Amino acid sequence: MIVTINPATGEKIAEYPVMIAGQLDGVLRQAEADFRRWRSTGFAERSACMKRLGELLRAEAAEHGRLVTLEMGKPLAQAVAEVNKCAWVCDYFADHAEEFLLPEESAIDGATGVVRFEPLGVILGVMPWNFPYWQVIRFAAPAMMAGNGIVVKHAPNVTGCSIAIEQLFRDAGFPEHLYRAVHIDLDEVDRLTGFMIDHPVIKAVSVTGSTGAGRAVATKAGRALKRSVLELGGSDPYIVLDDADLRQAVDACVAGRLLNAGQSCIAAKRFIVQSGVIGEFTRMIVEKMQRAVMGDPFREGTEVGPIARADLRDLVHSQVQRSVEAGAALLCGGHVPNAPGCYYPPTVLSGVKKGMAAYEEEIFGPVATIIEVADDDEAVAVANDSDYGLGSAVFSGSAERALAVAEQLETGNCFVNAMVKSDPRLPFGGVKHSGYGRELSHHGIREFVNIKTLLLP
Ligand code: NDP
Repeated sequence: MIVTINPATGEKIAEYPVMIAGQLDGVLRQAEADFRRWRSTGFAERSACMKRLGELLRAEAAEHGRLVTLEMGKPLAQAVAEVNKCAWVCDYFADHAEEFLLPEESAIDGATGVVRFEPLGVILGVMPWNFPYWQVIRFAAPAMMAGNGIVVKHAPNVTGCSIAIEQLFRDAGFPEHLYRAVHIDLDEVDRLTGFMIDHPVIKAVSVTGSTGAGRAVATKAGRALKRSVLELGGSDPYIVLDDADLRQAVDACVAGRLLNAGQSCIAAKRFIVQSGVIGEFTRMIVEKMQRAVMGDPFREGTEVGPIARADLRDLVHSQVQRSVEAGAALLCGGHVPNAPGCYYPPTVLSGVKKGMAAYEEEIFGPVATIIEVADDDEAVAVANDSDYGLGSAVFSGSAERALAVAEQLETGNCFVNAMVKSDPRLPFGGVKHSGYGRELSHHGIREFVNIKTLLLP
């Protein structure tokens, strides 16, 4: 049985039955049968379904947003924005999939080489709770437009969202079993995910979640010789050079740190700041973090909701405590409120040094970590001194100087003078322990295709 808990109150929301191996087998076979029909549909039919999905998401954004807020606690306005962003990704791939997958022709020694992008089959998605609609739809929309079927194992705390998403695909007119959600008991996740990966129906797997989850799933996929795409954690450096517009940098750093109570793979996690501006930067950050309104995620004006689960809130607090014990200065926040719910206040740590938890670990909560550096070279060295390599940002008044830094960062993206965001038009993904493969854009849609070469006379 899966029990969902409202993180804002600690109250039980609902209970859901879990599936055993025989039921999973049935789901996979049904998905495979619908995939066989779907793969022969044209782009016009696929696009029509995907457009309807986008329309439904927009029309029902308030309702789905409420479910997100109830189950994982993000402020309602952010939840509704997430659902609307999903509609954008549906429209984007409905409009562009055909062009992204156009066969390529070339003359080869008097013959014609044709490269076609054919679907692989049913793809397994292992998905997290932090953006419970976005993570799923950004994976599923391109994969389905390419002609694949989808089975999603979502995080158990957002099982209501998982079921609602499955229903949305049906309501949009996709074949009944082309998109399926499966629900697995926490104690059985490792074994039953392995069962699905080994199953002949599953042809590839996409994981969004922690590095540990990615490693566990990718190990199984590797053993089964199936392709995997991993979108894992990050500890994004936001580098503030001494010629930066500090107001712009502080706004982006705080927005990037507090969105979703800091529970985002591309949250601004390490503020790497040059000595010349660190005093003023720190003062401005503390003021802005302290002003952020934390509270009931359903209340208008709330900027920071609860952390999604009690164990995750406790982990954030232990990371802060261990950093302070190791010598970091706690400038604000840093305590567990004496009230119901999994709240954790916006927190600022300065004087963070190598070896401290706040330097070494990903903190999945509203905790700003400030690290001082002397110059551009040290900023790059500290930014790259991480197992992670997902996103990054550089703030500078000089485009050339920012680019020179950006070019040296070991990350999947770097935004100059802006907060890192995913966008359907741009590829998204990381290097190092942040994973491999790309989602979104024409790069993302080609992850789950068979690039088939034909040589024709
Ligand atoms: P997990 O990575 O454990 O969960 C994400 C998904 O992976 C869930 O569906 C989970 O299922 C599944 N999963 C975990 N282990 C396995 C496994 N061995 N085999 C198959 N599936 C698995 O995240 P948590 O919820 O535990 O969050 C902990 C940390 O993960 C956070 O502090 C953060 O660092 C990171 N994280 C990163 C995210 C990102 O966007 N990059 C998103 C969410 C978390 P189940 O819960 O049922 O085990």
